[in-house]
Amino acid sequence: MKLNFMALAIPFFVFFMLLEYYVSKKKNKEVYHFNESIANLNVGIVERISDLLTTGSFFFVFDWLYKNYSLFKIEPSITSWVLLFLATDLIWYWYHRFGHKINLFWAAHVVHHQSDDFNYSAAARITVFQAIARGTFWSVLPIIGFNPEMITILLLIHGTYPFFTHTQLVGNLGWLEHIIVTPTHHKLHHSSNPEYLDKNYGDMLIIWDKIFGTYVEESVKPEFGLTESLDNYSFLWQHFHYVLELVVSYRLAKNIKEKLKVIFGGPEDIDPRIRILLEKKMFKEKSSDDLSANLVNAIKFKTVETVIVLFFTILFSHYLLPIHLLFLTLFIVISSIITGAMLEQKRWIFHLEYIRFVIVCLIVNTFFDSFYSVSFAIIVLTLLFYKNINYKYQQFLFLN
Ligand SMILES: [Zn+2]
Ligand SMILES: [Zn+2]
Repeated sequence: MKLNFMALAIPFFVFFMLLEYYVSKKKNKEVYHFNESIANLNVGIVERISDLLTTGSFFFVFDWLYKNYSLFKIEPSITSWVLLFLATDLIWYWYHRFGHKINLFWAAHVVHHQSDDFNYSAAARITVFQAIARGTFWSVLPIIGFNPEMITILLLIHGTYPFFTHTQLVGNLGWLEHIIVTPTHHKLHHSSNPEYLDKNYGDMLIIWDKIFGTYVEESVKPEFGLTESLDNYSFLWQHFHYVLELVVSYRLAKNIKEKLKVIFGGPEDIDPRIRILLEKKMFKEKSSDDLSANLVNAIKFKTVETVIVLFFTILFSHYLLPIHLLFLTLFIVISSIITGAMLEQKRWIFHLEYIRFVIVCLIVNTFFDSFYSVSFAIIVLTLLFYKNINYKYQQFLFLN
């Protein structure tokens, strides 16, 4: 049986999140907040499923670059592994620094910094756009002459290590603090205090920050999240608010120089009033922060259900046809959008729920041909009573 063991990252990460939650409760530290954690998981869930495509594609790109354009052919040896480790970590440093200093890249990386919490769930807050940006930076490696297999192994380590630097429960690690990136360093990177902005970019080695002048140590209590908190859990808004801000800024820019500054300048070049205006336009009715008990339970259920579907989709991905993968990916993405909209108490959720339901019928159909007529009948019946079901659904979620 050919299972995809990348799926094991999911229970592994979930275990550490639960452990951190349990320890924080024991220590009376409020590290996790419900809305923040669910929103973080939502982003991470979609990144995991997209990763099925991006990881494979980048292996292909690295292989093609290595075969056609490599300057050298570097054989695996202890020295070349050490050099590759240093090279990947150095490239990460600059990818991350550009991610903060250039709007085009910040539009992808901003999502990682939106959480006002700093915990293992915030580590899961990575997007597919970030994975693409990172993979593009790493394309230098096969051109130098490192082979794609070596690069992939190193990138797996780079994909796992930063998870563990996102916690407030691990304190000073003594002499290790001088060499590797620890939670005490990365915690400051996630803080919006002026002292800590654009500091501690490193992934595994802290030496790059020391060499390039971006190293900082804790001096004041860190405030986590963006300088202007997003205060919105909509999945789509979290992913695309900055892209929209850039589009508006680009349109408002008077000449080509200003337009280029919108794309290649830094976040400080974007007028913060644009986001406020967009928020007013997009989110007219601001819901109250109190969620009903049924809504909280529905959010918990949907999150667990989506994580389970994600786990099995990745685990059995080698056996799935492209059509299965397409429907299962749609199911996972729509589920995450719904959960985010539930946190925002949006009344239009039912329409998306219905689309998700149709996708479930289609998934079942791709596995069992005989289900075709049954699912068709169910879809027609539910369409007939669409209004009534929508009413009952809204009553269940919002009126108790
Ligand atoms: Zn960052
Ligand atoms: Zn981080």
